[in-house]
Parts: sequence; structure tokens; C-alpha cells
Amino acid sequence: MQKQVGIIGAGISGLIACKYIKAKGFHPIVFEATNTIGGVWTKTLNSTILQTPKVMYQFSDFPWPSSVTQDFPDHNQVLNYIKEYAQHFDLIKHIKFNTRVEGIEYQGPSMEEIQAWHLWNGTGEAFNTKGKWKVSVTDTQKDSNSSIEVYTLDFVILCMGRFSDVPNIPEFPSNKGPEKSALDTAMECSTVNGVDHPCKVLYKTEHWILPDYLPWGIPLAYLYLNRFAELMVHKPGESLFLSFIATLLAPLGWVFSKFVESYIDRKLGLSKVGMVPSHSFHREINNCLISTVPEKFFDKVEEGSIVLKKAPRFWFCKEGVVVDGEASPLKTDLVILATGFKGDIKLRNIFVSPTFQNLILGSPNSVLTLYRECIQLKIPQVAVIGF
Ligand SMILES: Cc1cc2nc3c(=O)[nH]c(=O)nc-3n(C[C@H](O)[C@H](O)[C@H](O)COP(=O)(O)OP(=O)(O)OC[C@H]3O[C@@H](n4cnc5c(N)ncnc54)[C@H](O)[C@@H]3O)c2cc1C
Repeated sequence: MQKQVGIIGAGISGLIACKYIKAKGFHPIVFEATNTIGGVWTKTLNSTILQTPKVMYQFSDFPWPSSVTQDFPDHNQVLNYIKEYAQHFDLIKHIKFNTRVEGIEYQGPSMEEIQAWHLWNGTGEAFNTKGKWKVSVTDTQKDSNSSIEVYTLDFVILCMGRFSDVPNIPEFPSNKGPEKSALDTAMECSTVNGVDHPCKVLYKTEHWILPDYLPWGIPLAYLYLNRFAELMVHKPGESLFLSFIATLLAPLGWVFSKFVESYIDRKLGLSKVGMVPSHSFHREINNCLISTVPEKFFDKVEEGSIVLKKAPRFWFCKEGVVVDGEASPLKTDLVILATGFKGDIKLRNIFVSPTFQNLILGSPNSVLTLYRECIQLKIPQVAVIGF
């Protein structure tokens, strides 16, 4: 009988997974909690554009249409491109919309047996005839008490995305967190507030933000986004030879880093506004933390309509926000927490088994320990894409 593969999420990762699983002759089911495809690209701000040059953000078997001429298409163009991809490869019919996966539970060999395997799934193959995943789903259009439906699957691919659903809300001293009345006021202010009131941006750490991908006229990809540049990076568990090469190339890495840093500082004037990071660009790009800055952002800082303020800690008071170390509070009517999401917690919580929950996260503060960024070797018949 044909193996049944389930994919959770119909963003870019889920659609790509679906396309390739189909190409292998399977008939995957894609569970999507919302009523549409595209994931994060369905709910962006109006001004969001792609921050990666489009040639580096394209399906290898489905180029951007010639009608998209910009190097950095806007969010509507990105979403249309994703939709065209799904239509072109006839993926929509595989998707169960409005279907949220509540949890996945493994049934088969015992946990002790699985943890003793020397090869992934016991055999090193994707499938294991003895084990299945029970995938519990609910219909998001019905009320929360609606009955749970259970699918039995041979393989599950988790494509749930990192940047949504579980917000990363900073911790505040007790009784100094955001209060209901403050949130209500914020709601009202957001409707009536004009552009004349300066927006204060509080941040903890300075980051290297790119004005463009051409430092001093040289494409960034020549310096960093290629196989040679990978040799400059020390990796966990690397061989002695690769470790030696990375050490040997360290001075070159330093030169590349200074080259890009000097360009960013010159172009954006980070020194003028005290925003030069204490770490190197080399470290920033290797941690995948690079982002681009909206055009004219620092002009706004200079003219005073955006105020940047370093705030290692802050909390709320009646007048607004108190920044640690400052005598008077920042009078603030609306606070927007742009503090990201906890994608790793979302990933952890999809597993019912505490053992798998711990395995997928690895040790605290470490990156996910996934082989080739998609397989946890002690979790059978599961792959993760997009983390
Ligand atoms: C504003 C913004 C701009 C970005 N710009 C860039 C860029 O320029 N370059 C770049 O490389 N990356 C960018 N990214 C990163 C972006 O997240 C990825 O490029 C990519 O779109 C992620 O796709 P994904 O499918 O992995 O996740 P998502 O797009 O998050 O899709 C996940 C899908 O899974 C569904 N889902 C989640 N949980 C469940 C569940 N339990 N049951 C059923 N369905 C579920 C969600 O509804 C969603 O549809 C940006 C992200 C954001 C937020």
C-alpha cells in the first residue's frame, strides 16, 4: 500500500515539500490552519518588500515572471509568485484548508527502542513499517470544542514557519507589564495619531543592517554567499582539516568583514547615531541575522521623526515607558512590541511526547540540532523544513 505523507503548513516550505513529495509519486496531504496559501506573505505590513534580492529568493524550477522587474519585489508580488507556483504544479488540491494540527503522536516501537537505534528510523530509510504518526486536527471554522479528527500517517513534514503564532513577549517586572487600560488607549491612539509625533524605537542590541547588497560595488554574494565563504566558518563537529582551513582563512574573513562594515557605516552613518554594533558583520551574517533597512530610514532619524534609544530593560508606568537608567519616563501612548516570535516553541509543542519535545529543541539557547537542517536523528519519520 502507498505510504501516506502529511505536511503541516502551506507557506513556501510546505508548498515546496508538497511539490517534491508529489514528484516522488506520493499523494501528500497538506494541513493548513488558515484559508489560504503563502504563510507570512499573507499578512505583512503594507510597506513590506522582499529584503533578499529576487534572484536569491526564487524557486529553482519556477523563475520569477518577466513582469516583475524590480530586484526587491513587494509583498503582493511575492504572494502572487507563490500562488502561481502552487497553481503551476497543481498543489492546491492536496491542501486541507482551515485545518489546524493540534499535535502529532508516534505509535510504534517503544521510546527505548527508538533511542537505541544507530540509524535514523532503525534502517536509515525514510519509512519504518512498524511506526505511524497519529496527527490530530481541528477545523478552525468551527468552535474550539469541535471534535478532533485523527489521521494516521507514515511520514510527517513540519513546515509551520518560525515567524508567526507564538509571540516573543519580553518579561517585565511584576505589576509593571502592559495593562489592559494602556492597551485600550493604544488602540484608540493608533486610529487618531498623526505622523507628526516622533516614533521612539527602543532596542537592546545594535545590528549590522544592509542598505543594499553591493558593498563598495561588489556583490555581497561574492564575499559571503558561496561555497568558498563557507570554508571560513567553524562548524560543530568539523574535521581537523576543515577546522585548520577555517583558522587559516580567519584573517581573510576579518578583511571581508571590515570591508562591508566600512561601507555600511559610510552609507547609513551608523557612527553618527551611535548605532555601530560591537560585534562583527562576519558574525552577524553567519548567524543569519542580516536584514535590510527601509530606504531613507536614517534620514528620518536625522530629521528627528524617528528617535533611536538603547534600552537594555524597560517597563511600563502610567505615563508610558520607563527605560532602565533614565530618570523620566518616555511619554508614550502606543507601544508596539516588535520582538519577534518563538518558532522553536511552536515546533516543540506540536509533539505530544515530552521526549521528542526535548530532542527537537536540543540544549537551551542552541540552534536546532537538525541533520542537513531537516532531520532530528532520534525522531523517526519526521522532517522539518524552514527552520
Ligand atoms: C515580514 C517578513 C519578511 C520576510 N522577508 C524575507 C526575505 O526577504 N527573505 C527571506 O529569505 N526570508 C524572508 N522572510 C522569512 C520568511 O519567513 C520565509 O522566507 C518563508 O516565507 C517562510 O515560509 P515557511 O513556509 O517556512 O513559513 P510560513 O510562511 O510561516 O508558513 C507556515 C504555514 O504553516 C501554517 N501553520 C502553522 N502551524 C500550523 C498548524 N499547527 N497546523 C496547520 N497549519 C499550520 C501557517 O498558517 C502558515 O501558513 C520574511 C518573513 C517575514 C515575516
